Amino acid sequence: MNITTDRLFKHVVALLLLPLLLSQCSTTQTSLEKELGYDPMLEKDIEYLASDELEGRETGQKGEKLAAEYISKRMQELGLIPMGTDQYYQDFQVKDKDNPHGAEFVEQGEITVRNVIGMIDNGASNTVVIGAHYDHLGWEHSGSLHADGRAIHNGADDNASGVAGMLHLAKELTGRYSNNNYLFIGFSGEEYGLWGSNYYTKNPTVDLGMVNYMLNMDMIGRLNEEGKLSINGVGTSPMWNEVIPKIKVKGISVVTTEGGLGASDHTSFYLSEIPALHFFTGQHADYHKPSDDEDKINYEGLDMVLEYILKVVGKLDKNERLAWTETKQADQQGRRSFKVTLGVMPDYLFDGEGMRIDGIRSDRPADKAGILKGDVVIKMGEYDVEGMESYMNLLSKFNPGDSIMVTVKRGNKVIRKEVVFD
Ligand SMILES: [Zn+2]
Repeated sequence: MNITTDRLFKHVVALLLLPLLLSQCSTTQTSLEKELGYDPMLEKDIEYLASDELEGRETGQKGEKLAAEYISKRMQELGLIPMGTDQYYQDFQVKDKDNPHGAEFVEQGEITVRNVIGMIDNGASNTVVIGAHYDHLGWEHSGSLHADGRAIHNGADDNASGVAGMLHLAKELTGRYSNNNYLFIGFSGEEYGLWGSNYYTKNPTVDLGMVNYMLNMDMIGRLNEEGKLSINGVGTSPMWNEVIPKIKVKGISVVTTEGGLGASDHTSFYLSEIPALHFFTGQHADYHKPSDDEDKINYEGLDMVLEYILKVVGKLDKNERLAWTETKQADQQGRRSFKVTLGVMPDYLFDGEGMRIDGIRSDRPADKAGILKGDVVIKMGEYDVEGMESYMNLLSKFNPGDSIMVTVKRGNKVIRKEVVFD
């Protein structure tokens, strides 16, 4: 049964036999759930989102719009309040398809990108954002690792798994842990460069200052035999390292990384000074290939990951708003270490020469030296800064107390500032 006939059927029957239907429905659901050992909707959601009909859900294409329609219907069925700009949808345009990292948000453009947004409003003062991107690579894209001709990239793990997880959590959180509101966002444009989450944090439909923390699920459908769940971004709030060691789910062993910058949508929230975690069951041979299919999803594993995330939310239910902390990205790799920082937030999406500053921490070295948001750092001391990587590598060359000349581009001007590391 497809979704439309299914809903029509339910409506007709509901009018006639509502009380009976409800009792039967819940019995059927429960016994099926018991038999499977997990929420059967996880399967239904992933099967549809990763079906050939959606042609790999490429941003701006028909399959992406079908996926958005499906997610908004599911949100409606779950009773979520529409929090887009047009019901559940938040549309925006991006200019240049072939140069995603140089993309600018413009009024008229080539691609319409659509976030899908719904909320559980508990009348609380803080809101937790739970997100997952629903777009993928379509038929063929520069991000594909597939070499032999055109094929649909179904993206079952990446990231139909995260979307199904988000919808499951929306069901589970209804009427539960009510000291926060819950905002669920299906992001698009992630594969092209975090477009959806970047746009949302710059055009939020809730007060971002009231956002407590953000949980991002990107690729959570392939829990391996060892049960390794990777949680990235535990350095984005001191609270994570307090809470995470206390959470136990049978069969799951957690590996954490500190950094708030990563290749998924939590990055946009981290850069907005919101504590953010990324849940991830790890890389595999089908990553960004047409073979990332539904039949390889580990549903029992997915269910365990969701149980884990639900426990995180539960543990934080009675907490005050979490404090945000800046992370040293190098920690994420566990290789580099540096003793100094400029105290700036790099623009992760900038791909020009140098390191563009997206935010300045007050009273830190860059701020004290008069460096401004929007400046592009092109030289530190005698060394050229080519991009983020080289910026981070260079930081390891300096020590607290060192004084160096930092060269920045501000518009067309090149300015030199003396920075003292603390
Ligand atoms: Zn992804």
